[in-house]
Amino acid sequence: MDSMLKRFALSSFALFALFFISLNAHSKDTFELLGVQTQAGEKNAYMATEGDIALPVTVVNGSESGPVLLLAAGTHGDEYPSMFALQQLANEIDPASVSGTIIFLHLANPDGFHGRRLALNPKDEKNLNREFPGSKNGTPTEQLAELLTREFISRIDFFIDMHSGSANQKLLNHVYSPFVGNAELDLLTFEFARATGMQHIVMYGDRPRDPANSISFPNTAMTRGKPGLTTEIGHLAQRDDASIAYAVRVAKNALYFLNMISGKATPHQNAVIYQDIDYVKSHHTGFFTPRVTIGDKVSVGDVVGEVSDYFGNVLQTLTAQASGIIMMINETPPVTEGESPVAIGIAE
Ligand SMILES: [Zn+2]
Repeated sequence: MDSMLKRFALSSFALFALFFISLNAHSKDTFELLGVQTQAGEKNAYMATEGDIALPVTVVNGSESGPVLLLAAGTHGDEYPSMFALQQLANEIDPASVSGTIIFLHLANPDGFHGRRLALNPKDEKNLNREFPGSKNGTPTEQLAELLTREFISRIDFFIDMHSGSANQKLLNHVYSPFVGNAELDLLTFEFARATGMQHIVMYGDRPRDPANSISFPNTAMTRGKPGLTTEIGHLAQRDDASIAYAVRVAKNALYFLNMISGKATPHQNAVIYQDIDYVKSHHTGFFTPRVTIGDKVSVGDVVGEVSDYFGNVLQTLTAQASGIIMMINETPPVTEGESPVAIGIAE
């Protein structure tokens, strides 16, 4: 990773300049999304519909040309802070001061939201973020993924999929910077991740590189040559003001970085780059009790939690297999054999 970061630092400015020269001048024109047109210099909030699918969007079509950025919330239904952040930002932003086009997708998975579900869509019990690029003749989640691929990802240049910890999960705010083996794209994606200003940046290369099997929403962008980040802000299905304000700040930093609104993106002074995440697995089904919390530093062998049976007898002491920082931990008791209730970020 070290040499990759040095390459990033050396060539980032040149690459960034090149990238923008090659962009199309989208936003002097009318921007069309699912048959609805938004004129240059206008803002349009509406339900984008096709068949049984209806998605709340706000399109801000700037008066000047520039990139097209998609900001999405609610890919998972109970991850709330970014939903409120996008409402706030979409309301406050003035299209006359925007270069390029912003698509706010306020709820990517409305059925999951109304079903109060962790990750899944109650219509077919599928996780939208595992069904890309989707299928027009598939289940409801597969159809939704197909529409998001065809009508949203195809129209954009940059993407941030904004998540949180679900009702069962505490997490340290972080951003995933994926890499797919395309040096220019990976570099630009990393610069984009740094520009969010988030302190904890997880390098992530585990997703397929085949656009026909892209699996996640951001990887559907990446495998089509477009930077696609995932942010994780807030947790425990809360809607606290601090997390909402932080998500707004992260989204604004993205807009600054892309020169879509005036202002300067400020990368975090003490950014921590993680090369991997170690998941600590439970070998039993029963009750999980955490013994550490997010942000704690752990070393190999440190106790991070316990699993007990239904009668309170300890079956397993979970220990760290790697040294690092607790990034995510389950705060609610249920645990199933094979699940990983603790995730440890391994910094460089
Ligand atoms: Zn999520």
